[in-house]
Amino acid sequence: MAEAIEIYDDRLRATVSSDASLQKLANGAVHSEGPVYFHEDDSVVWSDAHGNRLLRWSPTDNVSVLREPSDYQSGNYRDLEGRLVACSSGLRAIIRREDNGEWKVLVDRYQGKRLNSPNDLVVKSDGTIWFTDPPYGITEPNQGYGGEQEQPGSYVYHFDPATGEIAPVVTDMIRPNGLAFSPDESLLYVSDTAAFNIPGGPHHVRVYEVVDRKWAKNGRVFAVIEPGQPDGFRVDESGNVFISSEDSVQVYAPDGTRLGKILVPEVCANLTFGGKKRDRLFITAGKSLYAINLNTRGVQR
Ligand code: MG
Repeated sequence: MAEAIEIYDDRLRATVSSDASLQKLANGAVHSEGPVYFHEDDSVVWSDAHGNRLLRWSPTDNVSVLREPSDYQSGNYRDLEGRLVACSSGLRAIIRREDNGEWKVLVDRYQGKRLNSPNDLVVKSDGTIWFTDPPYGITEPNQGYGGEQEQPGSYVYHFDPATGEIAPVVTDMIRPNGLAFSPDESLLYVSDTAAFNIPGGPHHVRVYEVVDRKWAKNGRVFAVIEPGQPDGFRVDESGNVFISSEDSVQVYAPDGTRLGKILVPEVCANLTFGGKKRDRLFITAGKSLYAINLNTRGVQR
């Protein structure tokens, strides 16, 4: 087994092959976040979230700047039509890249008040966008343009771009950050990174039951993540949860057992599955973009 892998449970051996090795694909960002894969050209787009840029890597073109300034864009995803949708921490909005290349604000308010600063998002199979709304773009000078917090808390929202309907679905977390659905979308995982700047705050992932395809209830702690905090994460087709942490991507079985770690030499912020077979894990960590080939596939399209 490659030295980059720590195994705590034999179930990990089916997921991470014995010769898997971590590759560094790019560096030079201030803070890498929010990777999203494009199968059309085998490229990865990700946010230099604190550098206020959007970057792209491909095996043929290496690294280029797609957008600067990016209004402190953070999490990225693709909608059912393949368009790039993103959290704009600076604009305090969910934005979408239109076919003509222009960026459109899809939603920036709830009940007439500005959102805090959307951080990460996921597109459900019905096309709805679920996103977290911590206040980092307000409180952290390198993550947004400041301003006043208008919402009474930091929630997870369900947003339907077809109708404009927006509703909070998780309201009992302190700093919701990353999120992902289980393979059948019956469960919603959400990380809380409050420990980042609130002493004694949580640094865990909670799991909720999805009700009527648009609500979440019965939240409970799924995994307490150390060292550091769980920022972004993804789920594979077996339901294993790949969670970013300070020293690694930590792999949890659906039953909450920690199976092992993929060690990464920089602080991990987020990750996504890509490659032609969706079996390549792309990891944004510190100033860099990494990749490792796995024996499992991501569930996101
Ligand atoms: Mg995040």
